[in-house]
Amino acid sequence: EAQQLGGTRIQCHEPEQVSRKIRARAIERAMWTAIEQEEFNLVYQPQVSMIDGRLIGVEALLRWTSPTIGKVFPDQFIEIAESNGFIQEIGRWVLKKATRDALHLPSDVEMAVNVSALQMLDADLIGDVQASLRESGLSADRLCLELTESVFMTPSHCVVETMRDLEMLGVSWALDDFGTGYSSLAYLSTLPLRKLKLDKCFTQALGEDAHALTIVRSVVKLCEGMSIELLCEGVETEEHAQLLLAERCTEAQGYYYGKPQSIDDIRRNFLSARQALNAV
Ligand code: C2E
Ligand code: MG
Ligand code: MG
Ligand code: MG
Repeated sequence: EAQQLGGTRIQCHEPEQVSRKIRARAIERAMWTAIEQEEFNLVYQPQVSMIDGRLIGVEALLRWTSPTIGKVFPDQFIEIAESNGFIQEIGRWVLKKATRDALHLPSDVEMAVNVSALQMLDADLIGDVQASLRESGLSADRLCLELTESVFMTPSHCVVETMRDLEMLGVSWALDDFGTGYSSLAYLSTLPLRKLKLDKCFTQALGEDAHALTIVRSVVKLCEGMSIELLCEGVETEEHAQLLLAERCTEAQGYYYGKPQSIDDIRRNFLSARQALNAV
């Protein structure tokens, strides 16, 4: 808001900007006790084969309900947690909880966990993954770590080494939000990637923007040529699913197939009675 005061214009902060800063500070303060006070929770979004609707994996997504602030979404606190270093703590909690919850799903269903750029630079990540696998008893090949493209904005030898070390343990890697970040194509061939996750903006532009289909088509070719699996994010409608299937995209995640939900709801909604029994 600008005010006229004695001929001089005084610039005040936008109220919106001020409240965002206050909220960010409150989030930062409340974060430190959120784990011990059990305010975090994981929900799981189904990843399915569009060919037969079969559940192939779930992605663990973090939720936080603070008694003082209310519901806080990851887009509002992950960045803050990265800047104050608390992401390491959170990341450990997520790994532990997700690997334990994965045991309630059949053994052919994978558990996908997001790993932030900062966790990649932490020497403890490999140890944390090993510990969570050991403590839960989950087999390493059921764990898929999702890394967002922006990690490769600045090429880092250390990140690639960490990926390789974890791959040696049997864990696989997916490149998240593909197409929106800063990774160079040259990088793709050097990374131990099993899967690309095409960002939801491409799926959602299908049917609206003629170029979206061209992009999908070339990413399909790229993945086929490099023997990397492709999963399309943000599939919200039957039309999205049909268009993608026609381009040979077979794996999807999105509201059309299921919203993030509890592991019990995943079992109820996606497993047959027999499958549910086999996974305790
Ligand atoms: P992401 O890993 O790309 O996760 C997908 C996001 O898209 C989720 O948002 C999910 O709810 C949303 N989504 C799924 N299907 C659809 C759809 O059909 N349409 C639309 N419009 N959105 C859809 P969410 O849960 O708010 O998470 C946002 C981001 O926060 C994630 O993006 C991920 O980068 C990060 N995040 C979430 N949980 C964790 C975590 O445990 N650790 C770390 N480091 N990051 C996390
Ligand atoms: Mg993800
Ligand atoms: Mg994504
Ligand atoms: Mg994202």
